[in-house]
Amino acid sequence: MLQFDILTIFPAIFDSYFKESIIKRALEKKLIKINIHNFRDFAKDKHKTVDDRPYGGGPGMILKVEPIYRCLANIKRKKKSKIVLLTPKGKTFNQKIASTLSKLNQLILICGRYEGFDERVRKLVDQEISIGDYVLTGGELPAMVIVDAVARLVPGIIEAESLAEETFYKKGYIEYPQYTRPEVFKNLRVPKVLLSGDHKKIREWRKRYERKK
Ligand code: SAM
Repeated sequence: MLQFDILTIFPAIFDSYFKESIIKRALEKKLIKINIHNFRDFAKDKHKTVDDRPYGGGPGMILKVEPIYRCLANIKRKKKSKIVLLTPKGKTFNQKIASTLSKLNQLILICGRYEGFDERVRKLVDQEISIGDYVLTGGELPAMVIVDAVARLVPGIIEAESLAEETFYKKGYIEYPQYTRPEVFKNLRVPKVLLSGDHKKIREWRKRYERKK
């Protein structure tokens, strides 16, 4: 079973997404497990401080290293486990990275906030991942994106046949066009070949649409 451990100071953000659809079913079937850890709980002062002003000056607040360090130390590590820091400075996430991560037993994701992390947090992790070249307010959306993309690839969650024809399942592959009822919608017709019942022809037609992205 693949276990996700997510470090955040806003645990409630995850409530709705993980309680619906495919992730919900995967959790119920115990194909994956998701633990949310509030690293504020690991701050030692009475105000539970997780951030402070940057040395050298500048705007905003920086996440301190100690609460994150203590929170990580409190997580029981499994064999084949990785710690990933979510940061716009990291390597851009893609299907290949998702596939590699889906083979782990444990994926620990650290969500930043404010102006980001004290640089020394980088020493605590195995990998740094960005979900794209833009800056979000926090790492929670990136964590959800990664959990979703990775969980889909865990055996038993999505039918293998369906994964094998999905966009990006191999390098550059884009899935063929799909249609469902009705046959005609505002003069737009479903291609005849798809209604023919001739599976060889349908395969050939679909193959023509494979393209590189
Ligand atoms: N000051 C940082 C910088 O310029 O690189 C940005 C900090 S951002 C406002 C706060 C947190 O959101 C980051 O520490 C990171 O965890 C998360 N984050 C924002 N954009 C992200 C992205 N594209 N991919 C992954 N995480 C992101």
